[in-house]
Amino acid sequence: MTIRLYNTLSNAIEELQPSDGEALRIYACGPTVYDYGHIGNFRTFLHVDLLRRTLELFGTKVKHVMNITDVDDKIIRNAAAANIPIGEYTPRFEKAFFEDLDALSVEHPEVIARATEHIDEMVKLIQCLAEQDLAYKTEDGSWYFRIAGFPAYGKLSKKDFSGITDGARVDVDEYDKDSARDFALWKAPKPGEYHWQTPLGPGRPGWHIECSAMAMEYLGDNFDLHAGGEDLMFPHHENEIAQSESATHKPFARHWFHVRFLLVEGRKMSKSEGNFYTLRDLLLKGYKASAIRFLLTSVPYRQQLNFTFEGLGAETGAVERLRTFYQRLKNTQWPENCNATAIQEAASTAKGKFLAALANDLNTAEARAAIFDLVRTVNAAADAGSLCRSSVAAVLDTLADFDRIFTVLEDNDSHWTRFALEWAEKEGRLDEASPEVRAQISLSDSQIDALIEERNQARRTRNFARADAIRKELLEKGILLEDSKEGVRWKRK
Ligand code: AMP
Ligand code: ZN
Repeated sequence: MTIRLYNTLSNAIEELQPSDGEALRIYACGPTVYDYGHIGNFRTFLHVDLLRRTLELFGTKVKHVMNITDVDDKIIRNAAAANIPIGEYTPRFEKAFFEDLDALSVEHPEVIARATEHIDEMVKLIQCLAEQDLAYKTEDGSWYFRIAGFPAYGKLSKKDFSGITDGARVDVDEYDKDSARDFALWKAPKPGEYHWQTPLGPGRPGWHIECSAMAMEYLGDNFDLHAGGEDLMFPHHENEIAQSESATHKPFARHWFHVRFLLVEGRKMSKSEGNFYTLRDLLLKGYKASAIRFLLTSVPYRQQLNFTFEGLGAETGAVERLRTFYQRLKNTQWPENCNATAIQEAASTAKGKFLAALANDLNTAEARAAIFDLVRTVNAAADAGSLCRSSVAAVLDTLADFDRIFTVLEDNDSHWTRFALEWAEKEGRLDEASPEVRAQISLSDSQIDALIEERNQARRTRNFARADAIRKELLEKGILLEDSKEGVRWKRK
């Protein structure tokens, strides 16, 4: 099956296939590692993950490059304030970013490219632009891109820049949304500021040139798909196109994939608005990593998604129902024979609809609906006693495809909650955890097992007061006990 995807550049839905016949080459703009990411950022990374998982499920190999912006104004400022080099400031946030990706079950890209490790490539690219008079140096020693020299400027964002004023400049990476001005390629250092000594003079790279240089370094001058959140379309991606195509005289990325915003009360979730949650904020409140992943991928990438706690609660319930269903299928001794045809057909129809929805511009909402329908049908058949091994096998096969994309069926949630708690404890931020979540930190799995063993012993010696006290203590710490014929089972609340 081939995926069809909306391309911002052509404004049309197009088939996506590797142009070299081997692997689909993707460049996705990565994080600026000056702080923890918020779940809006992760909505974008999750949809890129969904895209690569879908391609892989359809049998397409992927070569996915992601940059790490480990130098910019904020990083330089924060590192200077902490009195440490930028190389000691950013690794902590880079590590946190990958931990958050792991908690959200996001596959890592094949190549991680740090800006600070590609300064030479950026300098060469700027030199190439300068040779064509498309980059010029200003009095303070900074270098700018001359957008009047690139007539196609605006082709991605569909903005009309026909009245471009040659030489009007913007020296920060913050553009206003409707004007086009020459942008910084290389920034001269302010007194005492961190910089590199290069043939261009002392300084540091602008944000846009980073991505052009690193994308072309790993994927070639022309590659298949470039991804990012909708705010990157202009000016960041427009500027990447201008720099890269001016340098190579070839088309840069063929396909542009933009993920629309996660909103809070109708406004973009962002650091500057102060209306954001990090993944760790939510884990410490007791929300599960799986439910957060399921929520952020629930609405297709071309629609904005409004974040609410009710929505997150509903996704928690949805994940729970799917897991209960999955466990029921796996753990029941189903009869050998039955009339399996109807359920096998339902499973194969659901699989077909699931794959077709993904192939149709990554329609996650329809893909999920196909699976929820199947769950209802199969649960009803199970209640009526009409399932058997072969029908269950067909359903499990469809669920396996579902879970390669959404990855919520295996329960790793308590691991990530404990991870967030241990992190909060190290950072002195345990007061941010809800009391129920905090209760968990005092008990590891082996401590729970030891208390259960003590309770068993108390019961054997008919010391029921002690046995009850242990049950109560565990309950207060969020551990539920279930006595069964096979012994005592426990689970975290
Ligand atoms: P940044 O670290 O700010 O460069 O952002 C990393 C990625 O998250 C970029 O692709 C942004 O476009 C994206 N992004 C930022 N805010 C949001 C949001 N509220 N919803 C979805 N994506 C976002
Ligand atoms: Zn970028």
